[in-house]
Amino acid sequence: MHLKATLIKCTKLFFGDIRRAIVSCIVSSLILAGGGVVTFAKTARDWLIQTSNTPTPLWVTISLILLGCSYIYIKVAKFQSKLNHQDQSNKSPPPQYSEYQPTPGVFVYVSKTSPNREWYCKHCADVENTQSTLQMVHHSAAGKEYQCHKCKFGFRILSKE
Ligand SMILES: [Zn+2]
Repeated sequence: MHLKATLIKCTKLFFGDIRRAIVSCIVSSLILAGGGVVTFAKTARDWLIQTSNTPTPLWVTISLILLGCSYIYIKVAKFQSKLNHQDQSNKSPPPQYSEYQPTPGVFVYVSKTSPNREWYCKHCADVENTQSTLQMVHHSAAGKEYQCHKCKFGFRILSKE
């Protein structure tokens, strides 16, 4: 009985010690980490103060270079998207349309599924990915004028006479 009690006491003591060791480890590491963060913040602040105190040319040059780089990047991205759009306008029509040329040099889309032979704006379908009907805005003896109300693309079909 005595032996068992002593053993339990011993193990309790032992584990208690381990727990205390772990706790002190965690606490000290936390303190260290906290100190590290504080030191880091201090360094960053010192660096900022130093940078803003250095004669202007250095950091102005750096920010100018950065600005220039981002400007060039935006330009290149825009150019690439423009190229992509050009590629899109050169490729074959979307599956639901067939291409139609109402007058020389003008191309529109006609729906394959819809029974009414309405004309759809090619630019809106290719570039904007929307379906926009071309509407007749003017009709005279000289001819008919059509326009897309979304992108304002328009064309005129002259009378045959
Ligand atoms: Zn359009």
